Amino acid sequence: MEDSEHNMWIATNRGLTCIRVSTSNDKPGYFYNLLSYDSSEGLQGEMFNYHSAYLTSRSELIFGGSSGYNIFTPTTISYNNNIPRIIITDFQIYNKSIKPREPYNGRIILTKSITQTNEIDLKYTDNYFSLSFAALDYCMPNKSRYYYKLEGFNNQWLETDRENRRVTYTNLNPGKYTLYLKAVNNDGVESVNPVILHINVHPPFWKTIWAWILYAILVIGAGIYIFNRMTKRSERKLAYARENMRVNQQLEMDEMKLRFFTNISHEFRTPLTLILSPLEDLLQKAKSADDKELLSIIRRNAQHLLTLVNQLLDFRKLDTNVLTLHKSLGDIVMFIRQQVDLFVEVMARKDISFSFQTDMKQLYMSFDAEKLSKVLINILSNAYKFTPAEGCIQVVLSRIDDEIIRIVFNDSGIGIPEEELGKIFDRFYQVKNEDTIHYQGSGLGLHITKEFVILHGGEVWAERIPEGGTRFVVLLPYKEETAAESESLPAEGELNDDDTAFEAAFKQNNFPKLLIVEDNKDLRKLLGSRLRKLYAILEAKDGVEGLEIALREIPDMILSDVMMPRMDGIEMSKKIKGDIRTSHIPIILLSAKTGEESKLEGLMAGADDYITKPFNQEILQIKISNLIETLKHNQAIFDEQIRIEPSKITVNSLDEQLIKKAIEYSEAHLSDPGFSVEELSRELGMSRVHLYKKLLSISGKTPIEFIRVIRLKRAAQLLEESQLSVSEIAFEVGFNNPKYFRKYFKDEFGVLPSHYGSRSE
Ligand code: ADP
Repeated sequence: MEDSEHNMWIATNRGLTCIRVSTSNDKPGYFYNLLSYDSSEGLQGEMFNYHSAYLTSRSELIFGGSSGYNIFTPTTISYNNNIPRIIITDFQIYNKSIKPREPYNGRIILTKSITQTNEIDLKYTDNYFSLSFAALDYCMPNKSRYYYKLEGFNNQWLETDRENRRVTYTNLNPGKYTLYLKAVNNDGVESVNPVILHINVHPPFWKTIWAWILYAILVIGAGIYIFNRMTKRSERKLAYARENMRVNQQLEMDEMKLRFFTNISHEFRTPLTLILSPLEDLLQKAKSADDKELLSIIRRNAQHLLTLVNQLLDFRKLDTNVLTLHKSLGDIVMFIRQQVDLFVEVMARKDISFSFQTDMKQLYMSFDAEKLSKVLINILSNAYKFTPAEGCIQVVLSRIDDEIIRIVFNDSGIGIPEEELGKIFDRFYQVKNEDTIHYQGSGLGLHITKEFVILHGGEVWAERIPEGGTRFVVLLPYKEETAAESESLPAEGELNDDDTAFEAAFKQNNFPKLLIVEDNKDLRKLLGSRLRKLYAILEAKDGVEGLEIALREIPDMILSDVMMPRMDGIEMSKKIKGDIRTSHIPIILLSAKTGEESKLEGLMAGADDYITKPFNQEILQIKISNLIETLKHNQAIFDEQIRIEPSKITVNSLDEQLIKKAIEYSEAHLSDPGFSVEELSRELGMSRVHLYKKLLSISGKTPIEFIRVIRLKRAAQLLEESQLSVSEIAFEVGFNNPKYFRKYFKDEFGVLPSHYGSRSE
């Protein structure tokens, strides 16, 4: 039915509904407002009948239903215009009501009733809470609707359940929230001022701003700390690297200086010898005493210079570790006596009583004569320097026990202060006092002395003699090697006694042999007389004789003229270098011919060096000793090679063939204990003497030693690769007696066979 106001009234089976249609100036179209009425508002019931409605002339509306009818005038209906007010009635945390001033978990949350509260502070742990509320509207409260929103969480209004007016929030993040509540009454009138409650959920301490500031400070602090550490460290590294570089540069500089110094010293040697040798002649020719005096001053100083240069060179060799011992067998008693004898004359000139005492007759042992000679000369010349005229110097040689000999040097000189005794052996060290100032040398003498003694496995020290003076003591270990001794320790069984005795006979004679081939008799004698001190001299008057002697004696070195009758030096050189028995012997050719061509011819013939006449004696001597040194050096290299890998040896082609053959043959006969040098030499087509000399000069080893090295090398290989026992291996490589095997093995490799490689017994 449409009423007089043009509103539509609709009767349903659920009460009456009034629809008002309106328009608005702001928005186009129609607006519909629906209001429903039910029995609680005075209707006869909720069921209305079809077609039972009527609008009277007095604008009354009549609707009929199952329990009667309703008559009313729509304009007189009064509406509920009360603006609904809402209040919060309860606040719960974890479903527990919070009362004003009542502590919850030790904390008062509400200071006044929740109704009057407009702000709540909650801890982050309290974030399960609910609020209950009601509208202060007593006209049909159950037809009121309630809306809420929590700003900061959701921004739309949500409607609550009408029966149960309550909102609950769980797990809210820390932060500030505002809760809005509003109600709409039964006639659609809405609260004007919604209830506002501010809820602050406080973060835990570690999420507060202070905590974040603290974290930031910590992170920044740690960053700064690490940065500082790193810069410090890199600074330190840089400083270290710089220091290292500086030290290295310093070392390099020092090394360069020393190298320069050494090279220069080397250069000094030749001119010095060239000064000294004509000086000798001048001294002999000098007539007046004054001249003699002056010349001997020159000689003394030149000799001093030479000694210093030599010391420097020795020191340099020590420094770079290139010094090795070149031991040979000799009578040490005789050797010391000879060295001491060199001083007899100078000592006498200074009226020093000088003596050598020993109760030993002879002692054969192996030692490096050159180095030991330097030791003795250094100590004796110090004693001489620091002992005043009419003093006393004594050398005493004795045997301490079966293994050590002692050489004592006593002088009655100025002595060395107690605190300096240990230092005088340091390099460049010199005692500083008035007395010694005139005698200053290089400070190297005793340093070299000590190193040489240590190389021999010995010891040296200085002591004060209470009555005044100094005592130097040298201890040297020795192994006596007389004929009787070597018999008691026979060859290892793989070689017969005959071979051993043969080699022993050769070993006795230790001077290098020098063959001089020269047709001019005077020159030959002169050369011989000058070189006799150092070499066993053989002489030949032409090439034919030279070749014959070379083949018979196998000298260590040949010095030959070029122009000679019957066979000249060049042809002889060719023959000697072409014969396997003599090919290793170094040859120096002497010729009056100058010019590169003849030099070339000589060198093509295989000569190792070439000197033109007139030549200087000293240079000749230096050349000879250099060649012999080279030979020794080659021997050392070769020795090293057979020790490491016999099959990889390289020497000059002829020698190479021989050595290869010797190694092959020896390797094939290793397990035969009867395998002898005789057999080996027969196989190689040489006499035993030739083989002996040949092998010795190429390898520095006698045939016995040569075969033994090969046996030991094979043994080492077997020890590494096979499962055989040490004794089995000993027999395998031709040792009848494992005891000897062990001894020689230890001598060669420094360890017992049972400990060689990965073996352990
Ligand atoms: P230098 O070449 O200067 O003699 P050394 O190394 O041989 O160098 O000796 C070092 C120092 O030891 C000498 O400078 C000297 O002071 C002292 N010295 C060596 N031997 C004796 C000695 N017999 N008596 C006194 N002082 C000595």
